[in-house]
Amino acid sequence: MATTRIKLVRQLSTHKFDLLVIGGGVTGAGIALDAVLRGLRVALIEKGDYASGTSSKSTKLIHGGLRYLKQFEFRIVAEVGRERAILHRLAPHLVRPEKMLLPIYEHGSFSRFSTSLGLWVYDQLARVKGSDRRRMLSAALVRAEEPLLSTEGLKAGGLYAEYRTDDARLTIEIVKTAVRLGCVALNYVEADGFITTASGKLKGVMATDLLSGIQMEVFAKKIVNAAGPWVDELRQLDHSLNGKRLFLSKGTHIVVPREKLPLKYSVYFDMPDGRMVFAIPRHRTTYIGTTDTPFTDDKNGVFASRDDAEYLLKGLNGVFPHAQISLQDVESSWAGLRPLIYEPGKSASEMSRKDEVFVSPSGLISIAGGKLTGYRKMAEKVVSYVVKSLGLQSPQCTTMSVPLTKGKLDEAAYLAEFEAFANGAEDSGFAAQSLLQNYGAAAGKILAAARQTALPPAQALVVAEAEYAASEEFVVKALDFFERRSGRLYFDIRSVEAYLNQVLEALQRLLGWSDEKKAAERAEVLQAVHNVTQFKQ
Ligand code: FAD
Repeated sequence: MATTRIKLVRQLSTHKFDLLVIGGGVTGAGIALDAVLRGLRVALIEKGDYASGTSSKSTKLIHGGLRYLKQFEFRIVAEVGRERAILHRLAPHLVRPEKMLLPIYEHGSFSRFSTSLGLWVYDQLARVKGSDRRRMLSAALVRAEEPLLSTEGLKAGGLYAEYRTDDARLTIEIVKTAVRLGCVALNYVEADGFITTASGKLKGVMATDLLSGIQMEVFAKKIVNAAGPWVDELRQLDHSLNGKRLFLSKGTHIVVPREKLPLKYSVYFDMPDGRMVFAIPRHRTTYIGTTDTPFTDDKNGVFASRDDAEYLLKGLNGVFPHAQISLQDVESSWAGLRPLIYEPGKSASEMSRKDEVFVSPSGLISIAGGKLTGYRKMAEKVVSYVVKSLGLQSPQCTTMSVPLTKGKLDEAAYLAEFEAFANGAEDSGFAAQSLLQNYGAAAGKILAAARQTALPPAQALVVAEAEYAASEEFVVKALDFFERRSGRLYFDIRSVEAYLNQVLEALQRLLGWSDEKKAAERAEVLQAVHNVTQFKQ
């Protein structure tokens, strides 16, 4: 075990914390950061890698909440609209404005009038400014802008502002910031039991380091259960699973090469069953999603099924008839679980995405539901409750003004340097952008490290990226890098097998792996490639 892990296991088992957060998705990470900023001694444990649950499987949008407008939830639209602007300010490389096109068809969900009015209200509530404000397009303009869209029954289009992110990277940046400020955080540590006082109040958890098998007790005055789809398992362990429960809804995305669906804008379109689906261009791919179906199987192995992919392709080919995309064109996929609060009589897509906090008689604070977009406000609510129940003078939430990035990068100089280094290599433009959008200022560091090696450019870059992720971003497995740090498993799957050997060797050097460990890591990555490329029946 690397020395930093040993040190962290020791800290977890010997310190007494004010707050222990279980779950290193965006919700738990956000709570840990908010709490550490308010001066609490905070620990965060995650049973897999950070963001390995739902927080790496979303549509990767920082939503303005258009669906809430349809349900007349104006307060939520205004709140998430403000959140988008705040998150863009805190992590500009990761939360980027993205134009979304809503084509309006004769028998679609939206009329020209309702779209125009709805998007106008949305802009007002979300305080959208200047050229980001909605623009209504004639059918002829929609055709000119997105020639692949079906023209049959096309009446108009609405162009409006959304923000795109990378959910896993957003989570990692939040964890990094929390750790920089003093949070003791460790991935691959599972909470498997609660420790209570004689009067039945929680005082800690029993936990296992899943890499070494070491068991430990972690003591804290308050414990937050931010386990996403696993929230009810922990409530069960706490004997408090009564009243409201989770309802899990599976959402699948498929990824096709950009040249198969070369879109200018992200497009939000109607499916034949009346649901709405996104097609979003990203670097050398376009991804499409999502489905929304009840899920009751194994939460630790959620993958796209052939039915999911066929459902998405049917809708896609209806709206983009000239693209004619088939299952063979799908080069990767992902599927995740929405931890919704069950509402009797409603279908998965009708159930509210609102978050709720439950406090059990033992004091376990569980938070469920919500969205990536609202993580900061959810954290504020939970930490304000924790601070109050600890009887502390109430320090205010300051996450609004704490950047999630370190340093500044001269983007123009970086792109010029990248071009010179890549020397015309295929896809180098996408590679430069992808590194920049994933790592922000650290892209410059990665490029500089790559330039120090004698390797060919593409190889040098992936090795430098893996080394950065291993030394700065808590990578302990090769898949942490390929899936959640670099996003290559989804958005550049060819590069996973192409550079697997070099990445494994770099990680072996840095993390002190034995040859057996390296072989196991290789097998795990190849299994993951299989899982995202071969559909389950
Ligand atoms: P998770 O990310 O699942 O984190 C919980 C973590 O707890 C997991 O990593 C798990 O391993 C860990 N854990 C569980 N049990 C234990 C234990 N005993 N010990 C230690 N750790 C444990 N939101 C948006 O804002 N925009 C979108 O575009 C969007 N699209 C979505 C699309 C889909 C298909 C889905 C499914 C969701 C989408 N969402 C979106 C919602 C958003 O992704 C979720 O609200 C958010 O990621 C939930 O984060 P979380 O931290 O609560 O859960």
